This record gives sequence, structure tokens and C-alpha cells, in this order.
Amino acid sequence: MSPADSPPRRPEDGDDHPSVQCDACEEALTARRAHSPSFLLLETFTAPLIGCPEHLEEFATICGYATATTPDLLEHRPAGGISCPSCRLAPHNPTQLVIPVRGGAVASLLCPTHQAELVTQFQNGLDTQQQLTDSLDRSL
Ligand SMILES: [Zn+2]
Ligand SMILES: [Zn+2]
Repeated sequence: MSPADSPPRRPEDGDDHPSVQCDACEEALTARRAHSPSFLLLETFTAPLIGCPEHLEEFATICGYATATTPDLLEHRPAGGISCPSCRLAPHNPTQLVIPVRGGAVASLLCPTHQAELVTQFQNGLDTQQQLTDSLDRSL
């Protein structure tokens, strides 16, 4: 195999820093300390999230495809607060995960365990949504 077989890497293809096409999300993410998070009430835990209202809503809807009901999205801290002690510390952690959501992005302020659960649910939601779209396409 010659080195010429490997495709050239174009710098703009790098996905280390996916560009956020939504200005409102971009603004919320860069000034995240100034933004109070919204809270997504999932079945087993509560996820503090930062993004623009539109993409937070979109994120909640997609997560809802993986469950029986769409999780509630609150703009204020829920009465029960955050039950996981690690998640409560997560906002002070500078390496927060940013999840791309259709042209926008949502940052999760969760401990690694719950972050992984959230990503799994979001992925499952995306898969389910894709299947629904595919079957609709076929029935047309
Ligand atoms: Zn947005
Ligand atoms: Zn947690």
C-alpha cells in the first residue's frame, strides 16, 4: 500500500470543533457561565442543559422518541433539584460535552455517567425518529 492511497485530510473536515450554525446556541455556549441552564426531566435523572430555546426543545423532542413521553423541559431548577451529587459538581467542570442538534448544539452539565446515559437516549431517539421517517417515506 502506498501512502497515496490514504485520502488527503482537509482541515475543514476536522470534527474536533464542529461549527454551530445556530447563532443563538453559539452565544449561549460561549457565554454559558452567564446563562442559567434549562432542566430536562428524564425518567431516571434531571439533566441541566445549555442551548437556545429552539434547540433545547428539539433536543427534548428527540429524546422523547426513545421513551413513551417527551421529557419535560423546565427553565428553572426543578423542585427536587439535582439528585446526583456528581452532577451537581459538573457545572464547575470545564470539559463539558456539547451535543450537536440539527444545526445547533446543546451543552450538558452532567457527570460522565449521566452524560453517557443522556447521549444514549438522544442517539436512541434519533434512531427511532429515523425509522419513523423511513416508514413514512415508504408508505407514500
Ligand atoms: Zn439554537
Ligand atoms: Zn450524575
